[in-house]
This record gives sequence, structure tokens and C-alpha cells, in this order.
Amino acid sequence: ATPMSITVAMGKGASLGILFRNAEALENMHRIDTLVVDKTGTLTEGKPQVTCVLTAGGFAEEDVLAMAAAVEKGSEHPLASAITSEATRRGLAVEEAEKFENFPGKGVSALLNGKTCLVGSERFLRDQSIDTGDMKKEALRWQAEGKTVIWVAVDGMAAGILGIEDPIKPTTGRAIEFLRKEAIEIVMVTGDGRQSAEAVASRLGINRVIAEVLPEEKYQIVQNFKREGRFVAMAGDGINDAPALAASDVGIAMGNGTDVAIESADVTLIKGDLRGIVRAIILSRATVRNIR
Ligand code: ADP
Ligand code: MG
Repeated sequence: ATPMSITVAMGKGASLGILFRNAEALENMHRIDTLVVDKTGTLTEGKPQVTCVLTAGGFAEEDVLAMAAAVEKGSEHPLASAITSEATRRGLAVEEAEKFENFPGKGVSALLNGKTCLVGSERFLRDQSIDTGDMKKEALRWQAEGKTVIWVAVDGMAAGILGIEDPIKPTTGRAIEFLRKEAIEIVMVTGDGRQSAEAVASRLGINRVIAEVLPEEKYQIVQNFKREGRFVAMAGDGINDAPALAASDVGIAMGNGTDVAIESADVTLIKGDLRGIVRAIILSRATVRNIR
């Protein structure tokens, strides 16, 4: 039978916006020694905005944005909505693309007026042997500021880069600080480029960063930590976090995230506020003390 203290703690959790799937999820919170955490939408707001554009090859900013938006119309990625919103904000005419293709963790492609248009990470362009040329320097500068840089290529040539900003949630800093003081190792895992990831990590005092990670690699990272004998929590919000959430000892989903993430998790933080992890750990400790 479920001891009374667990029922009370789970109710307390619910009133704080922390939903535990079961008693085990609550109990396990106090055992966590490693927190693997996704960046976009978990540490950050997940509401990215295009804040700068640079072009090459004679393209105008508007051309690059309109092309990127045409390709991204087929995508549900948060970066896609940043790009389509910016095109709308600037009142650009966005054409219909053909043969849309999605490359998870990398980007998207489509045919626009018979031209192949790619939108995605630098790695995505490199994989297609597209030269990133002159814009590389500016891209590095933007990334050092914590921006995500999205590349746009047309017919095998880089046409522009988009600098995208996604602010850190105001509640993240305090939560991370507490967890660090509790000697929980925090590892940021992200599909974003290394420089952007490190810029965000250093603002939060996170020392360990694994960047340019493909969706299936997040799962592998969690498995590897478990094999080291660690008790691993994973916090994430996206479809690509779901396998890692399911594999971890405690999967923690952001309530503002995708349904698949929530379904794969043991704990849901309704408001996506990372302080919920801190509160859940404190609640777990108090409950375990009562049981014993
Ligand atoms: P995260 O771990 O940050 O949630 P993803 O695995 O979804 O990231 O994506 C990793 C990287 O792949 C992004 O930072 C971006 O460079 C690129 N990418 C993925 N999907 C898209 C898209 N629809 N448009 C542009 N770039 C994309
Ligand atoms: Mg995410």
C-alpha cells in the first residue's frame, strides 16, 4: 500500500505544479547525482527570434529570409516558427516549396523554383559538402553571444545566415545554482552548435557541454552515464528528448513541451520552471525520511 506520506507529498507536488507519475518517481528524485539537460526550451524559453541576418552571393536579407521561410513552412521545429514569424513580420511574400524534407537534428530542405534550398546547421551544410566560406567568422561571433546560427544554402552555395536568440528562462539560473551546490553534476546536451551551447552554459555555470548531438545520441549519452553507475535524471521538452527521457532513471518533462516528451517522463514540471526539480528533490528527501 502507498504510505500516507507519499500521497501527501504527491499532492503537495501537484499544488506546486510538479506532477509525479507514481510513488517511485517521487522517491527517486533524492537519488539523482547527474542531471542531463537539454538546452532549447528547457534551459531557455523555447521562443526563439531572428535578430540578425547576413547574406552572401548578392542575395538581399529579404530574399534569404523569404526562401528560408518557404522551406520552413513544412517544419514544426521552434526554429522554423522563428523564421516564418520574421518573414511575416517583415511582410515578405513566401512561396510554396516542393519536395520538403526534414533531417532531424540538422535542418530541412525543399525545392524552390527548381532550386534546392537547404536551411539548417553548419554541420548540415558541411555534410552536403557546401562551403560555408566568408560568413563563418560572423557566425562564430554570433555564436559566442549565445545565438543559434542557421545557414541557408541555394543550389550548393551558402546564401546567408540567420542569428536566432532564445533567452534563458529567468528561473533557470537559481535552479542550476542550487543543484550545483548539492553536488549534482549538470551536463548540457544539445543539437545546437558548440560555441552557442558553451556561451549559454557559461552564463549558467554549467561546466559540461555536449553539443551538435543528434536526437538518437541523447539517448546514448544517458545510457553511458547509467553504465558508469550514476543515477541519472534527464530534463527535456522535445520529441528528440523522448528516448533519453524514457531511458533515464528519472525523466523530467517541461509542461510547455511536446506531448511525446511528457508521455515519456516520470515527472512533469507544468510551467517548465526548473526550480521544480529543486522542489521535487526537497520533497523527495522529506518523504523518504518519513518512510524510514
Ligand atoms: P535541440 O537539441 O536544441 O532541441 P535539435 O536536435 O532539434 O536541437 O536541432 C539541432 C540543430 O539542427 C539546430 O540547432 C539547428 O541548427 C538544426 N535544425 C534542426 N531542425 C531545424 C529546422 N527545422 N530548421 C533549421 N535548423 C534546424
Ligand atoms: Mg529542446
